[in-house]
Amino acid sequence: MGRRSGDAQGDGARVSGEGSDRRRDTTIVQAGRRREWIGAAVNPPTWHASTILFDTVAEMEAAAPADGTFYYGRHGTPTTWALSEALTALEPGAVGTRLFPSGAAAVAMALLAVLRPGDELLMVDSAYGPTRAICDSELKRLGITTRYYDPLIGADIAALIGDKTRAIFLESPGSLTFEVQDVPAIVAVARERGIATLIDNTWATPLFFPAIAAGVDISILACTKYIGGHSDLMMGSVTVSERWWDRLRQVFRMYGQAVGPDDAAACARGLRTLGVRMERHQANALTVANWLANQPQVARVLHPALADCPGHALWSRDFKGSSGLFSIILNGGDAAARAALIDGLEHFAIGYSWGGYESLAVPADPERLRSATPWQAEGPLVRLHIGLEDPDDLIEDLARGLARYPA
Ligand SMILES: *Cc1c(COP(=O)(O)O)cnc(C)c1O
Repeated sequence: MGRRSGDAQGDGARVSGEGSDRRRDTTIVQAGRRREWIGAAVNPPTWHASTILFDTVAEMEAAAPADGTFYYGRHGTPTTWALSEALTALEPGAVGTRLFPSGAAAVAMALLAVLRPGDELLMVDSAYGPTRAICDSELKRLGITTRYYDPLIGADIAALIGDKTRAIFLESPGSLTFEVQDVPAIVAVARERGIATLIDNTWATPLFFPAIAAGVDISILACTKYIGGHSDLMMGSVTVSERWWDRLRQVFRMYGQAVGPDDAAACARGLRTLGVRMERHQANALTVANWLANQPQVARVLHPALADCPGHALWSRDFKGSSGLFSIILNGGDAAARAALIDGLEHFAIGYSWGGYESLAVPADPERLRSATPWQAEGPLVRLHIGLEDPDDLIEDLARGLARYPA
């Protein structure tokens, strides 16, 4: 695809991302809401379209798939263009975004955009489980090897880089165990050697960690979580710096990735309240986490804003806030006692995912997802997502749960 369509999107990203005169919350409300896409309504219409109709053969032949140009439903409509542009605007320094039907699809496609057979990938050992599974099965089949590294490795990652290393994948904080990575140090090493960096930024979102501005090439979000924010849709996004924009669009097109208009509209609606939701998730989670830290049944609270969390100093240096997801390690006990604790909770539901308005509690066993750094803990782990309920209700619920837990 020629520069023409690239320029078209580049201009679009600049229009909405423009403006030192726009602060974060203003951008969240306004970004992507172009009148020529949305019309007189506040929210973009939900375009249900596969076929796009042209007036003449000449018009059809002149069209090309680019954001802002009607071509064929798979390449998007104003519903998806507006959401993509808004997500780009939230990442200072980014040039464009592509939407994928889930966070896992976004991770897989971003990796396929960067890697070729024979390459080696450096993957953080605390990565989201399904991300590991993509590396260990699909990438392996393609002749791409994965080397897992200690999430706290920092600049020492230089020692792991070989001739075949093409990319470093980060997730900070890590899934389940919440180690905070030294992103600037790793990015500096990667840049020096021309190695691509990708980050799963789902926990912080660009609000609390602007990844592209920190020098990362490719920022991935499971929009299923905080961007959608209401536990009713699946979506992922990949937002890139200039260097990866052509390649991202190519992979998106070639693999036929497309999201449904209803999900895009719901996701865009969720996005508009991201700022206030994140602030409240942050406040509620800190209230609950600080209370948990003083309970005798709790050995450790793995929350980046608490001193116990590995990499806490890096979080203080690099992040603008913390979200609603963290883990606790119980003192002694076993999986059956943990299940009894969780089963009896009244205000925490049991279920996968997180980032909705509701609180969730799940058991997790990180030792099964480690290869570079063995996981050791005082007892079983429970991952909590703190929702928008009154935190005092959540604390009373957890107090009853912990009282049932054999110390
Ligand atoms: C949930 C999650 C994903 C995957 O998103 P889905 O939309 O569920 O596929 C990726 N990364 C992280 C950190 C997640 O928590």
